[in-house]
Amino acid sequence: MALFDKLFKKTESNKYLSDSEIEQRNKEFMIKFEQVKNLFATSLNNYNIENCQCAYPRFQQIIGIDCINTGNSFKCHDTDLLISMSKVYFDISNSDLTDEVTNEKWICKKCGSTYEYGWSDFSIYVERQKLKLTNLATQLIGQAPIMPIPLYLGLAGHSYPPLSEITSVPFAEFESYMTEK
Ligand SMILES: [Zn+2]
Repeated sequence: MALFDKLFKKTESNKYLSDSEIEQRNKEFMIKFEQVKNLFATSLNNYNIENCQCAYPRFQQIIGIDCINTGNSFKCHDTDLLISMSKVYFDISNSDLTDEVTNEKWICKKCGSTYEYGWSDFSIYVERQKLKLTNLATQLIGQAPIMPIPLYLGLAGHSYPPLSEITSVPFAEFESYMTEK
């Protein structure tokens, strides 16, 4: 898994990194994280000018990455950040589900689409949030998602999906993908 190696703070390879190397990697990650934060702020804003995030299949694709689906144990940083930043566009209410440590029902403030939100920790190293669309109440207008799913921040955890499903791309490519250029 050399692909996302840079981001693995807690994998075995880390045993061989010096403190300064770890610090350097953390710094690089924080720079990338800030880049994506700005990108997601722009794309969420764009989605909501005339429609809402629900109408964009690529939004659905990125928030929909959930290690439970493939029986793995990882967190996707891109997914995590997009879910956190989209929260303001939803009304949050109680869920009937109890399969996660935290279960919530998220309802889009604009179109009324419903999602099941969940947060769970699988070990002291891996926790993740998920947002699963359960009822789409608007028409999809955005561009089609592509496979393998392009990611910029990547994954961290214990076991990963096959590379046929996810791929690491440069920032410019991820930016075009998320802003539908
Ligand atoms: Zn919506």
